[in-house]
Amino acid sequence: AQKRYAGLVGLPAQTLCGKHIALHMNAGLMADLPSLATSGAEGVGLFRTELQFLIRNKVPRRGDLASLYARVMDAAKGKRVVFRTLDIGSDKVLPYMKPQEEPNPAMGWRAIRVGLDRGGVMRMQLQALIRASAGRPLTIMFPFVAQFDEFRDAKAMLDAVLESESRLGHVLPASLEVGAMLETPSLAFAPDRFFEETDFISIGGNDLKQFFFAADRENERVRKRYDTLNYSFLSFIRQIVTRCDTFHTPVSFCGEDAGRPLESVALAAMGVRTLSMRPASIGPVKAMLRRLDLDEVAAVIDKAAAEGAQSVRPALSEHLAERGF
Ligand code: PEP
Ligand code: MG
Repeated sequence: AQKRYAGLVGLPAQTLCGKHIALHMNAGLMADLPSLATSGAEGVGLFRTELQFLIRNKVPRRGDLASLYARVMDAAKGKRVVFRTLDIGSDKVLPYMKPQEEPNPAMGWRAIRVGLDRGGVMRMQLQALIRASAGRPLTIMFPFVAQFDEFRDAKAMLDAVLESESRLGHVLPASLEVGAMLETPSLAFAPDRFFEETDFISIGGNDLKQFFFAADRENERVRKRYDTLNYSFLSFIRQIVTRCDTFHTPVSFCGEDAGRPLESVALAAMGVRTLSMRPASIGPVKAMLRRLDLDEVAAVIDKAAAEGAQSVRPALSEHLAERGF
Protein backbone atom coordinates (compact mmCIF):
# COMPACT_ATOMS: atom_id res chain seq x y z
CA ALA A 1 0.00 0.00 0.00
CA GLN A 2 2.89 2.33 0.83
CA LYS A 3 4.21 1.87 -2.74
CA ARG A 4 0.91 3.05 -4.16
CA TYR A 5 1.44 6.43 -2.56
CA ALA A 6 5.17 6.68 -3.08
CA GLY A 7 4.70 9.20 -5.89
CA LEU A 8 3.00 11.57 -3.47
CA VAL A 9 5.80 11.72 -0.90
CA GLY A 10 7.30 14.96 -2.18
CA LEU A 11 3.98 16.56 -3.05
CA PRO A 12 1.98 18.83 -0.74
CA ALA A 13 -1.48 17.96 0.57
CA GLN A 14 -3.01 20.76 -1.48
CA THR A 15 -6.75 20.58 -1.99
CA LEU A 16 -8.58 21.45 -5.21
CA CYS A 17 -9.74 24.66 -3.51
CA GLY A 18 -6.10 25.59 -2.94
CA LYS A 19 -5.80 24.95 0.77
CA HIS A 20 -2.66 23.41 2.20
CA ILE A 21 -3.16 20.80 4.89
CA ALA A 22 0.03 20.08 6.83
CA LEU A 23 0.42 16.36 7.47
CA HIS A 24 2.59 15.36 10.40
CA MET A 25 3.25 11.98 11.95
CA ASN A 26 2.78 10.54 15.42
CA ALA A 27 5.71 8.73 17.02
CA GLY A 28 6.86 7.33 20.32
CA LEU A 29 10.03 5.40 19.62
CA MET A 30 13.36 6.12 18.00
CA ALA A 31 12.42 3.38 15.51
CA ASP A 32 9.54 5.54 14.24
CA LEU A 33 11.81 8.34 13.06
CA PRO A 34 12.91 6.91 9.68
CA SER A 35 9.24 7.17 8.65
CA LEU A 36 9.60 10.93 8.69
CA ALA A 37 11.47 10.81 5.39
CA THR A 38 9.66 7.85 3.82
CA SER A 39 6.15 9.11 4.60
CA GLY A 40 6.77 12.69 3.57
CA ALA A 41 5.50 13.98 6.93
CA GLU A 42 6.29 17.64 7.57
CA GLY A 43 7.27 16.89 11.15
CA VAL A 44 6.37 14.87 14.23
CA GLY A 45 3.09 16.36 15.42
CA LEU A 46 2.98 14.16 18.50
CA PHE A 47 5.87 12.38 20.16
CA ARG A 48 4.39 10.29 22.96
CA THR A 49 7.12 10.22 25.61
CA GLU A 50 5.45 7.73 27.94
CA LEU A 51 6.74 4.68 26.06
CA GLN A 52 10.23 5.25 27.46
CA PHE A 53 8.72 5.16 30.92
CA LEU A 54 6.54 2.12 30.25
CA ILE A 55 9.25 -0.19 28.93
CA ARG A 56 11.45 0.07 32.02
CA ASN A 57 10.91 -1.20 35.53
CA LYS A 58 12.11 2.02 37.11
CA VAL A 59 12.00 5.73 36.31
CA PRO A 60 14.44 6.39 33.43
CA ARG A 61 17.45 8.53 34.23
CA ARG A 62 17.59 12.12 33.09
CA GLY A 63 20.77 11.55 31.12
CA ASP A 64 19.27 8.60 29.26
CA LEU A 65 16.18 10.57 28.39
CA ALA A 66 18.23 13.55 27.25
CA SER A 67 20.30 11.42 24.91
CA LEU A 68 17.21 9.73 23.50
CA TYR A 69 15.47 13.09 22.88
CA ALA A 70 18.67 14.40 21.28
CA ARG A 71 18.77 11.40 18.95
CA VAL A 72 15.13 12.00 18.04
CA MET A 73 15.91 15.63 17.17
CA ASP A 74 18.99 14.56 15.20
CA ALA A 75 16.93 12.06 13.23
CA ALA A 76 14.29 14.71 12.51
CA LYS A 77 16.98 16.79 10.78
CA GLY A 78 15.50 20.14 11.66
CA LYS A 79 11.87 19.14 11.17
CA ARG A 80 9.66 20.10 14.10
CA VAL A 81 9.08 17.48 16.79
CA VAL A 82 6.30 18.10 19.29
CA PHE A 83 7.35 16.40 22.52
CA ARG A 84 4.39 15.63 24.70
CA THR A 85 5.24 15.38 28.38
CA LEU A 86 4.41 12.21 30.21
CA ASP A 87 0.81 11.08 29.76
CA ILE A 88 0.44 8.32 32.33
CA GLY A 89 -2.42 7.13 34.44
CA SER A 90 -5.69 5.83 33.02
CA ASP A 91 -4.80 3.15 30.43
CA LYS A 92 -1.04 3.80 30.75
CA VAL A 93 0.11 2.50 34.12
CA LEU A 94 3.78 2.55 35.08
CA PRO A 95 4.99 -0.73 36.57
CA TYR A 96 6.83 1.15 39.34
CA MET A 97 3.97 3.44 40.27
CA LYS A 98 1.64 2.50 43.07
CA PRO A 99 -1.63 1.54 41.36
CA GLN A 100 -4.31 4.09 42.12
CA GLU A 101 -7.49 2.30 42.97
CA GLU A 102 -9.63 4.67 40.98
CA PRO A 103 -13.18 3.88 39.96
CA ASN A 104 -12.83 5.90 36.74
CA PRO A 105 -9.15 6.00 35.71
CA ALA A 106 -9.81 7.76 32.39
CA MET A 107 -11.23 10.63 34.42
CA GLY A 108 -8.78 10.16 37.22
CA TRP A 109 -5.31 11.14 38.25
CA ARG A 110 -3.50 11.15 34.94
CA ALA A 111 -1.27 13.12 32.57
CA ILE A 112 -0.74 16.77 33.54
CA ARG A 113 -2.56 16.16 36.82
CA VAL A 114 0.19 13.75 37.89
CA GLY A 115 2.83 16.00 36.34
CA LEU A 116 1.79 18.96 38.47
CA ASP A 117 1.11 17.03 41.67
CA ARG A 118 4.37 15.07 41.47
CA GLY A 119 6.57 17.77 40.00
CA GLY A 120 9.79 15.76 40.27
CA VAL A 121 9.27 13.59 37.21
CA MET A 122 7.97 16.39 35.01
CA ARG A 123 10.83 18.69 35.99
CA MET A 124 13.30 15.94 35.21
CA GLN A 125 11.69 15.41 31.82
CA LEU A 126 11.75 19.12 31.04
CA GLN A 127 15.43 19.28 31.96
CA ALA A 128 16.13 16.33 29.67
CA LEU A 129 14.31 18.05 26.80
CA ILE A 130 16.17 21.33 27.31
CA ARG A 131 19.53 19.56 27.47
CA ALA A 132 18.67 17.51 24.38
CA SER A 133 17.79 20.61 22.41
CA ALA A 134 21.18 22.13 23.26
CA GLY A 135 20.50 25.41 21.53
CA ARG A 136 18.12 24.03 18.91
CA PRO A 137 14.44 24.97 18.68
CA LEU A 138 12.25 23.00 21.09
CA THR A 139 8.53 22.28 21.12
CA ILE A 140 6.80 21.00 24.24
CA MET A 141 3.16 20.03 24.65
CA PHE A 142 1.28 19.33 27.87
CA PRO A 143 -1.31 16.53 27.76
CA PHE A 144 -4.86 16.53 29.04
CA VAL A 145 -5.06 20.18 30.04
CA ALA A 146 -8.62 20.70 31.28
CA GLN A 147 -8.33 24.28 32.47
CA PHE A 148 -6.15 27.35 31.98
CA ASP A 149 -4.63 27.09 35.48
CA GLU A 150 -3.06 23.76 34.67
CA PHE A 151 -1.41 25.18 31.58
CA ARG A 152 -0.27 28.25 33.50
CA ASP A 153 1.17 26.11 36.31
CA ALA A 154 2.95 23.79 33.87
CA LYS A 155 4.44 26.79 32.09
CA ALA A 156 5.57 28.26 35.39
CA MET A 157 7.29 24.96 36.15
CA LEU A 158 8.96 25.09 32.74
CA ASP A 159 10.09 28.70 33.31
CA ALA A 160 11.64 27.74 36.63
CA VAL A 161 13.44 24.80 35.00
CA LEU A 162 14.74 27.06 32.20
CA GLU A 163 16.12 29.45 34.76
CA SER A 164 17.87 26.76 36.76
CA GLU A 165 19.24 25.11 33.61
CA SER A 166 20.64 28.43 32.51
CA ARG A 167 22.21 28.96 35.95
CA LEU A 168 23.80 25.52 35.67
CA GLY A 169 25.39 26.63 32.41
CA HIS A 170 23.28 24.63 29.97
CA VAL A 171 22.55 26.16 26.59
CA LEU A 172 18.87 27.05 26.37
CA PRO A 173 16.75 26.23 23.31
CA ALA A 174 17.10 28.69 20.42
CA SER A 175 13.34 29.06 20.49
CA LEU A 176 10.62 27.45 22.53
CA GLU A 177 7.02 26.71 21.64
CA VAL A 178 4.72 25.54 24.40
CA GLY A 179 1.32 24.12 23.62
CA ALA A 180 -1.57 22.27 25.18
CA MET A 181 -3.58 19.26 24.16
CA LEU A 182 -7.29 19.90 24.04
CA GLU A 183 -8.75 16.60 25.20
CA THR A 184 -11.58 17.67 27.45
CA PRO A 185 -14.49 19.82 26.24
CA SER A 186 -13.84 22.24 29.12
CA LEU A 187 -10.66 23.61 27.54
CA ALA A 188 -12.57 24.76 24.47
CA PHE A 189 -14.37 27.20 26.77
CA ALA A 190 -11.31 28.46 28.63
CA PRO A 191 -10.85 32.22 29.06
CA ASP A 192 -9.51 34.12 26.04
CA ARG A 193 -6.20 34.56 27.80
CA PHE A 194 -5.52 30.85 27.52
CA PHE A 195 -5.75 31.03 23.74
CA GLU A 196 -3.51 34.09 23.73
CA GLU A 197 -0.88 32.52 25.97
CA THR A 198 -0.59 29.10 24.40
CA ASP A 199 1.65 28.84 21.35
CA PHE A 200 -0.50 26.11 19.81
CA ILE A 201 -3.27 23.68 20.54
CA SER A 202 -3.48 20.07 19.49
CA ILE A 203 -6.85 18.37 19.65
CA GLY A 204 -6.47 14.89 21.14
CA GLY A 205 -9.48 13.46 19.40
CA ASN A 206 -9.30 10.04 21.06
CA ASP A 207 -9.85 11.50 24.48
CA LEU A 208 -11.93 14.47 23.38
CA LYS A 209 -14.42 12.16 21.69
CA GLN A 210 -14.76 9.90 24.71
CA PHE A 211 -15.51 12.86 26.97
CA PHE A 212 -17.72 14.63 24.44
CA PHE A 213 -20.01 11.61 24.09
CA ALA A 214 -19.33 10.21 27.58
CA ALA A 215 -18.34 6.95 25.86
CA ASP A 216 -15.28 5.05 27.05
CA ARG A 217 -12.70 4.81 24.23
CA GLU A 218 -11.67 1.36 25.55
CA ASN A 219 -15.20 -0.01 25.48
CA GLU A 220 -16.08 -1.18 21.96
CA ARG A 221 -19.74 -1.49 22.75
CA VAL A 222 -20.24 2.18 23.53
CA ARG A 223 -17.38 3.63 21.48
CA LYS A 224 -18.85 2.43 18.21
CA ARG A 225 -22.21 4.07 18.84
CA TYR A 226 -20.75 7.51 18.29
CA ASP A 227 -19.32 8.24 14.91
CA THR A 228 -16.55 10.80 14.58
CA LEU A 229 -18.54 11.94 11.56
CA ASN A 230 -21.31 12.79 13.96
CA TYR A 231 -22.44 16.33 13.21
CA SER A 232 -22.37 17.27 16.90
CA PHE A 233 -18.71 16.37 17.17
CA LEU A 234 -17.76 17.99 13.87
CA SER A 235 -19.56 21.19 14.89
CA PHE A 236 -17.60 21.21 18.12
CA ILE A 237 -14.35 20.84 16.19
CA ARG A 238 -15.42 23.74 13.96
CA GLN A 239 -16.11 25.88 17.04
CA ILE A 240 -12.69 25.08 18.49
CA VAL A 241 -10.96 25.96 15.22
CA THR A 242 -12.92 29.21 14.93
CA ARG A 243 -11.96 30.17 18.47
CA CYS A 244 -8.30 29.37 17.81
CA ASP A 245 -8.37 31.31 14.55
CA THR A 246 -9.70 34.37 16.39
CA PHE A 247 -6.54 34.41 18.47
CA HIS A 248 -4.26 33.24 15.65
CA THR A 249 -3.50 30.17 17.76
CA PRO A 250 -2.31 27.34 15.51
CA VAL A 251 -4.50 24.27 15.99
CA SER A 252 -3.88 20.71 14.91
CA PHE A 253 -5.65 17.38 15.39
CA CYS A 254 -3.59 14.39 16.48
CA GLY A 255 -6.08 11.67 17.43
CA GLU A 256 -6.38 8.44 15.42
CA ASP A 257 -9.18 9.92 13.32
CA ALA A 258 -6.69 12.27 11.66
CA GLY A 259 -5.36 9.22 9.82
CA ARG A 260 -8.69 7.92 8.55
CA PRO A 261 -9.39 9.26 5.06
CA LEU A 262 -13.07 10.18 5.46
CA GLU A 263 -12.53 11.61 8.93
CA SER A 264 -9.47 13.59 7.88
CA VAL A 265 -11.43 15.16 5.04
CA ALA A 266 -14.26 16.11 7.40
CA LEU A 267 -11.78 17.60 9.90
CA ALA A 268 -10.13 19.62 7.14
CA ALA A 269 -13.56 20.82 6.02
CA MET A 270 -14.16 22.02 9.60
CA GLY A 271 -11.07 24.18 9.24
CA VAL A 272 -8.31 22.00 10.73
CA ARG A 273 -5.15 22.77 8.75
CA THR A 274 -2.69 20.44 10.49
CA LEU A 275 -3.25 16.74 11.01
CA SER A 276 -0.93 14.34 12.80
CA MET A 277 -1.30 10.61 12.20
CA ARG A 278 0.38 7.23 11.89
CA PRO A 279 3.00 7.49 9.13
CA ALA A 280 1.24 4.85 7.01
CA SER A 281 -1.87 7.03 6.84
CA ILE A 282 -0.16 10.03 5.29
CA GLY A 283 -0.24 8.67 1.73
CA PRO A 284 -3.93 7.71 1.66
CA VAL A 285 -5.02 10.91 3.41
CA LYS A 286 -2.95 13.07 1.08
CA ALA A 287 -4.29 11.27 -2.00
CA MET A 288 -7.83 12.03 -0.92
CA LEU A 289 -7.29 15.65 0.12
CA ARG A 290 -5.59 16.46 -3.18
CA ARG A 291 -8.70 15.51 -5.11
CA LEU A 292 -11.27 17.38 -3.07
CA ASP A 293 -12.72 20.84 -2.64
CA LEU A 294 -13.17 21.47 1.09
CA ASP A 295 -15.87 24.10 0.63
CA GLU A 296 -17.89 21.50 -1.25
CA VAL A 297 -17.25 18.95 1.51
CA ALA A 298 -18.35 21.45 4.18
CA ALA A 299 -21.50 22.16 2.17
CA VAL A 300 -22.25 18.42 1.93
CA ILE A 301 -21.82 18.08 5.70
CA ASP A 302 -24.01 21.06 6.52
CA LYS A 303 -26.69 20.01 4.06
CA ALA A 304 -26.85 16.50 5.54
CA ALA A 305 -27.23 17.96 9.02
CA ALA A 306 -29.87 20.43 7.82
CA GLU A 307 -31.82 17.42 6.55
CA GLY A 308 -31.61 15.84 9.97
CA ALA A 309 -28.65 13.50 9.68
CA GLN A 310 -26.77 12.91 12.94
CA SER A 311 -23.88 11.10 11.27
CA VAL A 312 -22.83 12.71 8.01
CA ARG A 313 -20.98 9.54 6.96
CA PRO A 314 -23.53 8.40 4.36
CA ALA A 315 -23.63 11.83 2.71
CA LEU A 316 -19.86 12.21 2.76
CA SER A 317 -19.31 8.68 1.43
CA GLU A 318 -21.69 9.38 -1.40
CA HIS A 319 -19.93 12.65 -2.24
CA LEU A 320 -16.60 10.83 -2.35
CA ALA A 321 -17.99 7.94 -4.37
CA GLU A 322 -19.16 10.43 -6.98
CA ARG A 323 -15.55 11.54 -7.22
CA GLY A 324 -14.25 8.04 -7.77
CA PHE A 325 -13.27 7.10 -4.23
C1 PEP B 1 -5.69 11.59 21.98
O1 PEP B 1 -6.25 11.48 23.06
O2 PEP B 1 -6.29 11.79 20.91
C2 PEP B 1 -4.22 11.49 21.89
C3 PEP B 1 -3.58 11.78 20.77
O3 PEP B 1 -3.56 11.05 23.00
P1 PEP B 1 -3.52 9.51 23.44
O4 PEP B 1 -4.17 8.71 22.34
O5 PEP B 1 -2.09 9.18 23.65
O6 PEP B 1 -4.33 9.55 24.69
MG1 MG C 1 -5.10 11.54 24.91
